[in-house]
Amino acid sequence: LTQLYMPLNWFGTFYRQIQNSFVDMENMFDLLSEEPEVIDSPSASPLTITNGEVEFRNVAFSYIPERPVLKNLSFKVDPGKTIALVGPSGSGKTTIIRLLFRFYEVNSGYILIDGQNIQMVTQKSLRKAIGVVPQDTVLFNNTIEYNIQYGRPGASHSEMVNAAENADIHERILTFPDKYDTQVGERGLKLSGGEKQRVAIARTILKSPLIVLLDEATSSLDTLSERHIQAALTRICNNRTTIIVAHRLSTIIHADEILVLRNGEIFERGRHQELINSNGLYATMWQQQLENDRSNDAAVAEQTTT
Ligand code: ATP
Repeated sequence: LTQLYMPLNWFGTFYRQIQNSFVDMENMFDLLSEEPEVIDSPSASPLTITNGEVEFRNVAFSYIPERPVLKNLSFKVDPGKTIALVGPSGSGKTTIIRLLFRFYEVNSGYILIDGQNIQMVTQKSLRKAIGVVPQDTVLFNNTIEYNIQYGRPGASHSEMVNAAENADIHERILTFPDKYDTQVGERGLKLSGGEKQRVAIARTILKSPLIVLLDEATSSLDTLSERHIQAALTRICNNRTTIIVAHRLSTIIHADEILVLRNGEIFERGRHQELINSNGLYATMWQQQLENDRSNDAAVAEQTTT
């Protein structure tokens, strides 16, 4: 019995880790063949996506009853616009993304996509409308082609290659032993963090959703991969409604709106320059980041001269 119990227990833990850390939400159900915790209502109908407008209206949420995580949160992202979520660790950024993907039900308020309450639509149609580029992509133990094509099963080989080119990963794949037929994942070729993120970008390009959720990597990538990734991300976010959980503020200076969260509430909101001018929490975070960048640069310079 213990032998049977152990793997089940392990799966449960792994599932929760994935759910908690916003790792590859799109494919986790497929990866683990797990039933989602949220069940569709019997009258649920498919989401009709027209423009990709996203709205949170007075949303409150807690994981544990006595600990509110989001309090009466309201914001709207117009079709094709980019909103960035920033704030201290634990302020609720990732929770907003999980709720939009409907991993949990809100306690009160509504989340609307093109005016439709996401509680009233099928989860399948909801997840089809949203593309996710997570911090850490879990790859299937299969070929690199399969892993990219997962974004739109049925896409042709040339569409898949095209997506890889746009995600700046094509050239790299050509250096793999069997090119697009190379086995990747835990039992195959191990890809670097930056490469895995580009696979996620290629998948999303192939899926071509109207809404994109982006969890910016906290781990630092080398400058070259960083540049490749930024260029590819700019391409997928163009003309799509985008929500970015941002860790480096330099990547969101062009966002249409920045929400600065603190303790589950919007503490400040505005565009980059407006927030800098108002000299509040965002301005302090920006100053801190500039100082960190300067001391990192100084450390690199010292290493190269010694
Ligand atoms: P970070 O920048 O560190 O990723 P965040 O702003 O994304 O943080 P969330 O992950 O949304 O923050 O967490 C908000 C709060 O909810 C935190 O206090 C966290 O401890 C709590 N929390 C997150 N996931 C769960 C969970 N599954 N069960 C209980 N509490 C949770």
